[in-house]
Amino acid sequence: MSGRVHLVGAGPGEPGLLTARALELIAAADVILYDRLVQESALEGARADAELVFVGKEGGGAAVPQEQTEALMVEHARTGKTVVRLKGGDPFVFGRGGEEALALRAAGVEYEVVPGVTAGVAAPAYAGIPVTHRGLASAVALVTGHTRAEGRQNDGHDCSEARHAELDWAALSAFPGTLVFYMGARSLAQIAGSLIDAGRDPREPVAVVQAGTLPAQRTVTGTLETIAEIARMEGIGAPSITVVGAVAALAGELSWLPVRSLAGRTVAVTRARAQASTLARTLGGLGARVIQAPVIRIEPLAPRPLDPSPYDLVCLTSPNGVAALFERLAVGGRDARALAGVRVAAIGPGTAAALAQLGIVADIVPERFVAEGLVQALAQVPVRRALVARASEARDVLPEALRARGAAVDVLALYDTVVEPLPAPVLAQARGADYITFTSSSTVRFFMEAAGEAPGEGPGGTAGEGQPAERAAKLGADRGARLSQHTRIVSIGPVTSEALQAYGLSPHVEASRHDIEGLIEALVEDATAREH
Ligand code: SAH
Repeated sequence: MSGRVHLVGAGPGEPGLLTARALELIAAADVILYDRLVQESALEGARADAELVFVGKEGGGAAVPQEQTEALMVEHARTGKTVVRLKGGDPFVFGRGGEEALALRAAGVEYEVVPGVTAGVAAPAYAGIPVTHRGLASAVALVTGHTRAEGRQNDGHDCSEARHAELDWAALSAFPGTLVFYMGARSLAQIAGSLIDAGRDPREPVAVVQAGTLPAQRTVTGTLETIAEIARMEGIGAPSITVVGAVAALAGELSWLPVRSLAGRTVAVTRARAQASTLARTLGGLGARVIQAPVIRIEPLAPRPLDPSPYDLVCLTSPNGVAALFERLAVGGRDARALAGVRVAAIGPGTAAALAQLGIVADIVPERFVAEGLVQALAQVPVRRALVARASEARDVLPEALRARGAAVDVLALYDTVVEPLPAPVLAQARGADYITFTSSSTVRFFMEAAGEAPGEGPGGTAGEGQPAERAAKLGADRGARLSQHTRIVSIGPVTSEALQAYGLSPHVEASRHDIEGLIEALVEDATAREH
């Protein structure tokens, strides 16, 4: 039986602009063939075992030939796989989607087309430019700016169908509306010149939007006469959209994107990929270039049925723990009602939110989101028998404090946090980032391990807690993180900071609220302070 190929638009880059159908298909795909303009974030929802194949064009390097891409789609589909062919923007707008559909039809393979938000509309919108506007533009033309003359050059895009286009400059010049050029970054002078020569008003407003909707978005404006020089001076490059027409002048008045307080900064995120999306997305939204350097992976332990009824208190210390706990209830044929008679404590708002999603409002959430905070918050709560559900490796502050009060405490390990090897280029990028964020002591320890710092005492048992501080510090100093001089270390709280100090590293920034929001706040504050 033959699988299906889905020709899917990934939108202009901002993850929120992926369609619901695109997300659904990305999550279901066996194979994803993606282009260069597809952002890494678009692939985040893919299955861990999905095959991700890059078929774009790398910088000035060689492209995967179109025939090969088409052959790959057909081949995978014929083995019964669900194939997503993921393209920037919309697959049928300068995306060769039409050609690929023809190839699939010829091969007798079924396909679906999922339209995407096209850059020619999205990038202007993100710059405050409506491509049509009553009284200013009642038509819009999507035009390739890639002219035949530069057919051999490679400005890094994957849309070479456009190379063969011959543009009718007289017709474009006479077009009664907005002209939107794709792939025009290199040929801006030529485009503007050709339009003027063909009779378009040299004073007509023009805007160029680079990296529209992405953290690095930039807009320059001018006129047909001045824009090429302005863009050159400002170093505008690909990918960019050029808007020619009266609407381009609205960019100043209608611009709405908030100032991005982390624009131009790189921030490395060491948290497990599955958990990092909020952090990465928020940082990206603030303009940072995010380096995903996950050093941890969460591995749930085989779920055994759990009956929480003997306990009068259940403590949860992470959103992962919440998910795993509910899985254990489920395998025993139970649901949220099993917690009806039990007090539920969450270590912080993230954990409480995960509980709330499953219908449980936490009874206790401490003001300080660390184990000591929870101990304090529980001081007045009567406890006879408690269950502490958490990672297999964690501090014993909470169980010990409860036992000291005479409570019977069971510690239930729900998942392992295991080290995830970092590819060398990612490690290098993380080391050179402006900021590196640590959201738990295990991210610290595993980053050191990923950086090749394992003293070889078995998994997990390396230079972390329990290691003589002196030796650990030496590791940090001698072979430790090897972060670049300018890299600022951000810690989520005192426990994580302590883990850093054990490696001879001291955090430049420590969040005063020990959750993701607090960490972001502290990072932004630091970045803003250093700007002045
Ligand atoms: N199918 C895509 C277009 C592919 S052609 C779509 O519908 O958007 C590639 C060109 O798209 C680039 O050269 C650039 O002109 C434009 N482009 C893609 N993403 C962009 C972005 N985020 N900002 C500005 N232009 C973009």
